[in-house]
Amino acid sequence: MTLQIADRVNSFAESQTLGMAKLGRELASKGHKVINLSLGEPDFDTPLHIKEAAIQAIHDNYTHYTPVAGFIDLREAVCSKFSRENNLTFTPDQVVVSTGAKQSLMNVVLSIVNPGDEVVIPAPFWVSYASMVEFAGGKPVLIYAGIEQDFKVTAEQIEAHITPKTKLMMFSSPCNPSGSVYNRAEMEAIAAMLDKYPQVYVVSDEIYEHINYVGKHESLASFENLSNRAIVVNGVSKAFAMTGWRIGYIGAPKPIAAACEKLQGQFTSGTNSIAQRAAIAALSQSIEPTRQMCNTFHQRRNLVLELMKNIPGFKCNVPDGAFYVFPEVSDYFGTKYENTNIQTATDLSLFILEHAHVTTVTGEAFGSNNNLRLSYAAGEADLKEAFTKIEQALAKLK
Ligand code: PMP
Ligand code: GLU
Repeated sequence: MTLQIADRVNSFAESQTLGMAKLGRELASKGHKVINLSLGEPDFDTPLHIKEAAIQAIHDNYTHYTPVAGFIDLREAVCSKFSRENNLTFTPDQVVVSTGAKQSLMNVVLSIVNPGDEVVIPAPFWVSYASMVEFAGGKPVLIYAGIEQDFKVTAEQIEAHITPKTKLMMFSSPCNPSGSVYNRAEMEAIAAMLDKYPQVYVVSDEIYEHINYVGKHESLASFENLSNRAIVVNGVSKAFAMTGWRIGYIGAPKPIAAACEKLQGQFTSGTNSIAQRAAIAALSQSIEPTRQMCNTFHQRRNLVLELMKNIPGFKCNVPDGAFYVFPEVSDYFGTKYENTNIQTATDLSLFILEHAHVTTVTGEAFGSNNNLRLSYAAGEADLKEAFTKIEQALAKLK
């Protein structure tokens, strides 16, 4: 008898960011030099003072189960961070620490979305949002913004997709994959529009908060009228180069925080104790290493925009945050090289992997079928080499 995997696993797609990274590793294991511009993670090492806090935690025997929602002093550090950096007031019982912002998001979706509920998601959107909603039995309702509007949806566009079934909106700024940053006025218009729909909860995914080249980070949760239904999702992965430590957190209305705590009490018993101690150091000590990383990302953003000018048919906006460029590449659709026909962004991404040994992610993963996402969280030499190889590979397509 063959094993039938449960329908719920078959009901959503594999993560294409992780899938592409896996293909890149497989090619590298065959002895090829592969430049990874697929996975969105800082190439920097975790700052020393954070690593030392983790080593100290081991010596201090922080080796037991922690409270399910996270150590109280970590949740206090999160509250101080919200107050200091975002002017948001949360108490520790409104904070839940999880195994990455990814689990934070999944907890929130599972806590809010019932089967049949609609969730509005501005597109392009981060790869996992729609799958999470589908997993919960909800219906993702995508709202498209193209390059001509800097990949940012307007309040009017969102409103046109709200129905009595809408339960949640999943919003991110700075946005992955587009790098777009909503300004205060754009957010204010969205918050004002939501005033008419008090049944709609709002997830504000702020994981790229510190990788912002236009100044002060603005939070959708900071608008007074949303304070009783906004859930801020954040984490240490991007700001502190801590992707492998797996620490994310939410600040949420109490019933939602309690529901997330209950869920993860059954799923994970809470997150890793050593990583939690490290996160306290990250959130309560100097932000200077983060600023330096952001400056470097800014320089690389400028470099990549220059390098991209050499690639015919790549149309790009100027992303104001995160560490991705998201060019439109549809000029290549309908071209071919030998037996390979390029019909989609996925075809192009696989062609680039095969012929340039550079990993990228298809825009289809993010709801934008004409685009490719390239992460510039890589060293300058690698970026220059990657773009030269991409240019040479694409020149083969006629
Ligand atoms: N939100 C966005 C927009 C992301 O790009 C990511 C990817 N790191 C996450 C959430 C999840 O981050 P993590 O689980 O590493 O904290
Ligand atoms: N968030 C990163 C990305 O978009 C990491 C991969 C993932 O978690 O899916 O590439």
